[in-house]
Amino acid sequence: MSTHPTPELISRYASGDAGVDDATVWAVEAHLESCGTCRGLLTDAVDPGTRDLLQRVSEGISAGIAAGPAPVRRRRRLRRTGVAARVLPWLATAVFLMLSATLFEQAFPDAPSLVLLLAPVAPLLPIAAAWSRRTDPAWELMASMPRTGLALLLRRTLAVLAAVVPVLAVAAWGTGHSPALWLLPCLAFTAGSLALGGLVGIDRAALALAVVWSAAVVVPSMATDRMPVVLRGGSWPLWAVSTVLLAAVVLARAADHRRFGTGGS
Ligand SMILES: [Zn+2]
Repeated sequence: MSTHPTPELISRYASGDAGVDDATVWAVEAHLESCGTCRGLLTDAVDPGTRDLLQRVSEGISAGIAAGPAPVRRRRRLRRTGVAARVLPWLATAVFLMLSATLFEQAFPDAPSLVLLLAPVAPLLPIAAAWSRRTDPAWELMASMPRTGLALLLRRTLAVLAAVVPVLAVAAWGTGHSPALWLLPCLAFTAGSLALGGLVGIDRAALALAVVWSAAVVVPSMATDRMPVVLRGGSWPLWAVSTVLLAAVVLARAADHRRFGTGGS
């Protein structure tokens, strides 16, 4: 939004009008970040009772900050460690699973490939742990600032993939599989858990996908001793298209994640 939003739009934004669509809300927020005049209008648009409350809270916070030491660095460090402490055990589990799958596959070369069967769900447990709603202050951030929330969402997801993909690469290299058959399904399921996460929360979405894939594909394949059609050579275009579509859904519907920060659903 290069021009100022109308005062009417700002007042609808301030009142949380459900008729204002996500794209407009984002545009208004982006504009407010850089425009003092419109922030002034926003202040006026908030009803007087709320404004008094905000004023009192703000004074209380200022007094608290003035009275106490500056803890910013330490707190940020602790918070980051909190996420890492939650995710690391699940990353270790994923690594252990993939290495076990590699050993299994080398021991039983005629059985269906466990490496390929498990690759799609390898990143899901760490991703679920990274977005555990009960303990994560980032949910609040997602709720208040969708654009910042999306950046955070992508950054954490990339961090998980940066840890999981090299392990998958080693496992696949050890067993001689084409990257198209492990990397693309892995990316598709990651994008799928984020896309579905907009509806039910990322932690639930990732766990649900892991359970459904295991029950519908992994177990039957091992039981019948046959590789599923979706993981045979010609299936990679399907995975590529799914990944692109799901990633587009994530970007287009990023604002969906905000509702989980406010304790909804
Ligand atoms: Zn403006």
